[in-house]
Amino acid sequence: MRAGERFDVCLIGAGIIGSSVAMATAQRGLKTVAVDIDLSGRLSSSEKNAGGVRATWWQPVNIRLCRASIEYYESISREVGFRQKGYLWLYDSDTWPQALDHVDLQRSLGHPIETLTVTQVAQRVPEIDKLDAIAGATFSPKDGLINPNLLKQHYRAAALRHGAQFVDRVYVLSIEPGQSSVRLGLWQADAAMPDAGLVRLMTEDGPGEAEPGRLFDVEADAIAITGGAWSPVPLRLAGLKNYSEPIRRQICLVDSRATNFERYGMIVDTSGVYFHNEGPYILAGYSPPEEPPGYHFNYDGDGFFETEIWPRMFARMSCMERLRHVTGWAGLYEVSPDRSAIVGRAAPRIFEAHSFSGRGVMQSYGAGQALADLIATGSYGALDAAPLSRERFERGQQVFEALHI
Ligand SMILES: Cc1cc2nc3c(=O)[nH]c(=O)nc-3n(C[C@H](O)[C@H](O)[C@H](O)COP(=O)(O)OP(=O)(O)OC[C@H]3O[C@@H](n4cnc5c(N)ncnc54)[C@H](O)[C@@H]3O)c2cc1C
Repeated sequence: MRAGERFDVCLIGAGIIGSSVAMATAQRGLKTVAVDIDLSGRLSSSEKNAGGVRATWWQPVNIRLCRASIEYYESISREVGFRQKGYLWLYDSDTWPQALDHVDLQRSLGHPIETLTVTQVAQRVPEIDKLDAIAGATFSPKDGLINPNLLKQHYRAAALRHGAQFVDRVYVLSIEPGQSSVRLGLWQADAAMPDAGLVRLMTEDGPGEAEPGRLFDVEADAIAITGGAWSPVPLRLAGLKNYSEPIRRQICLVDSRATNFERYGMIVDTSGVYFHNEGPYILAGYSPPEEPPGYHFNYDGDGFFETEIWPRMFARMSCMERLRHVTGWAGLYEVSPDRSAIVGRAAPRIFEAHSFSGRGVMQSYGAGQALADLIATGSYGALDAAPLSRERFERGQQVFEALHI
C-alpha cells in the first residue's frame, strides 16, 4: 500500500466480516484493500467465539443470511472444519411457545427443524438425564460447528487470489468523504503493539506521540466500516451515529472426564448455558444478562466456571458432577438496539457491516456477498440485507432477535 494509492474499496477492519467482504468485492473485480491494526486478530471477536452456525432465527433477513452462509460452508466443509451435527435447543414453558411460533417461518425459508418432546430429548442425548423444566426442544440438523479461524483464512486466501491486499498494523485516523472519493488518513505502526496498547489506540484517539509509525493518506471510491466492536471510532470519524455497544462474553473449556460429546453438535440448555465438544474437552459459554457494556477482556476463571457454568451443567446432567475447569477467555459482542447486525450504505461512499452480536461467524459469507453487491452495483443482488440498514432505527422498523444475545 503506497501513500496516495487509490482503491475501489477500502475496508476498515479485517476480522471474519472484513475478510468476507474483501473476498466478495475482489471477486467482483474491485480493487480492494483491507487495513487492520492487528491482522492476527488478538482482540478480535473472530478469534474468541464458539464457532456455532445456525439459521434458527426469528427474522427472515437473519435466517436468509445464515442459510446462504450454511450452503457455502457446506461446499467448503473440509477446508473450514464445518461439522453439521445440528443444534439441540431445550426450552422451558416460558420460551417454548415462542420457539414454536418461529418454527414455521424457519421451515418456510428452507431450514429443516424438528420439534422434540422431553422423552425424545432423553432418547437423543441420554446424558441429559435431569429433565425438569424442559417443555420441549428443537433440533436443526443442518446447523453445526465451524472452525472460525480456518473460515477467515479461507476468505483472505480467496481475496488475495483476486488481487486484494491486507495491510497490517494500520489504524485509521481520519475519514474525509469528497465528491469523487473518500480520503483516509492512516497511521502504520513500525511494530506490532501489545494488547493494552491496542485497546487504548482503538478506543481513544489513535497513537500517542511516543508510538513509532508512519502517517500517510490513501483514497478509495468507497469504504466499509468492518471493525467489529471497535467500529464506534471509525463511525465517529465518518460523522455517523453509533447505535451499538461492546459487551464482554466469556467461554470456558471444561473436562468432563468420562463423558464424550463428539457425536453431538451445539446443545443449548433452558438455563442459557450452551456447550459442544471441543477436542478432548467441552466448550461451554453463558451470557449473564447483567453484564455491563465496555471493552472488558478479563476472564473470571474459576469464578465464572463455578458460578455460571458448572451449576447449570450439573443441574441438567448427572455426568457433569465431576466437571473440571481447564481454561477460558473473554471476547466482545457488538450489540445493536435490536440485536441484529447493521449492514448497508451509511452515507454516500460509506458502507458498514458490524454489530453482529453472537452471529458474525454464521452470517459472514452472506453478509459479505450482500454488501459487495451493494458496493459494486448500488443495489442488493441475490441476497437482500436491506432490513439491516441503519435507517431502521430512525424509522422504527427494528429487526428484533430475542434469543441468545
Ligand atoms: C464469546 C463469544 C462467542 C461467540 N460465539 C459465536 C458463535 O458461536 N457463532 C457466531 O456466528 N458468532 C459468535 N460470536 C460472534 C462473532 O465472533 C462476531 O460476531 C464476529 O467475530 C465479528 O467479526 P467482525 O469481523 O465484525 O469483528 P472482529 O472479529 O472483532 O474484527 C474486527 C477487526 O477490525 C480491526 N479494527 C477495528 N477498528 C479498526 C481501526 N479503526 N483501524 C484498523 N483496524 C481496526 C480489529 O483489529 C479487528 O481485527 C461470538 C463472540 C464471542 C465474543
